[in-house]
Amino acid sequence: MQERSNKIATVVMCIDYRFWPHVLPMLEKQYGDFDLIEVAGAAKGLASPKNSSERIVLLSNIKTSISLHHTETIVLANHQDCGAYGGSKSFVSLGEEMRFHQRELGKARDYIRKHFPGHKVETIFISRDNKGVISLIPISSYE
Ligand SMILES: [Zn+2]
Repeated sequence: MQERSNKIATVVMCIDYRFWPHVLPMLEKQYGDFDLIEVAGAAKGLASPKNSSERIVLLSNIKTSISLHHTETIVLANHQDCGAYGGSKSFVSLGEEMRFHQRELGKARDYIRKHFPGHKVETIFISRDNKGVISLIPISSYE
């Protein structure tokens, strides 16, 4: 394998077919090459896991990505209407849904920083309007 000069990122994203095929080229444009870890709910596995094994599997995949490709940035991407969180119907408005994901992404980011202190963590909310247009919204989390 030839050594790459550009930096590789690690992306954690949901399995949802309505989002990931559209989001991949957008992420590529923003981050260049990246390893992709797809799990239902994305940051949920770190912020609000159903059980401890969800965290272990996610952390282990992130660790493998870092050690194989020396990734320096970890990107956590949650999305609108995520079934793992009960979908948009669980929220009264898009604003409430976004604030919820902002908190989730913040929890997940803190968890990652504890385990990989030298790494940059970026958090994104993926929205989809009623025409199906997808946008990546960088989200700064509550401190
Ligand atoms: Zn989802």
